[in-house]
Amino acid sequence: MTRAPDLHADVGEILLTEEQIATRVAELGRRISEDYAGRPVTLVSVLKGSLPFMADLMRAIDLPLRIDLMEVSSYGGGATESSGLVRILKDLSATIEREDVLIVEDIIDTGLTLNYLVRYLRGKNPATLRICTLLDKPARRLVEIPVDYIGFTIPDQFVVGYGLDYGELYRNLRFVGVLRPEVYAGPAEAEVAGV
Ligand code: 5GP
Repeated sequence: MTRAPDLHADVGEILLTEEQIATRVAELGRRISEDYAGRPVTLVSVLKGSLPFMADLMRAIDLPLRIDLMEVSSYGGGATESSGLVRILKDLSATIEREDVLIVEDIIDTGLTLNYLVRYLRGKNPATLRICTLLDKPARRLVEIPVDYIGFTIPDQFVVGYGLDYGELYRNLRFVGVLRPEVYAGPAEAEVAGV
């Protein structure tokens, strides 16, 4: 029988509290506002994981700004792995030509998704293209990408919450946490594995 997920109990360890996230997002917003010094900026966020981060970050930035949303899916990988094959499910709704564009990402793991996105967006001739990610997991990086703004560098663990999902759930948690192993493995396998 499939067990109903218990959002809070399924999280073994809270990595980042709501307060830590709020403080860091405010800092990032201040730095971005200073760096662009009054110039208009276009934030391009990548659905769905970046949704809470985008909503909080845009309100922490004191600049004239536009937002646009893309949705991409990487396919061919497992539930917790990226494959590098990226499909655009939703494209930009307006041109970004000659604009200062800042990509707003939830997490960079292997870097494959972002690498694809950066090349795709460069092809649209923005004046500048920078990257802001809430989380950086450098341990499994396969492609080097210069990231301009990083919220938190985290260890190589699969995290959920504050937009990040496992099987489309857990996005609404206010914190970022690590799922208990039995959530991936199912209770029987977890017992055999001694977890
Ligand atoms: P990358 O292409 O950099 O390996 O992975 C990027 C995408 O994989 C992220 O946008 C996210 O959707 C997913 N991802 C990578 N690591 C994690 C993680 O720890 N938790 C969750 N929920 N998604 C992740």
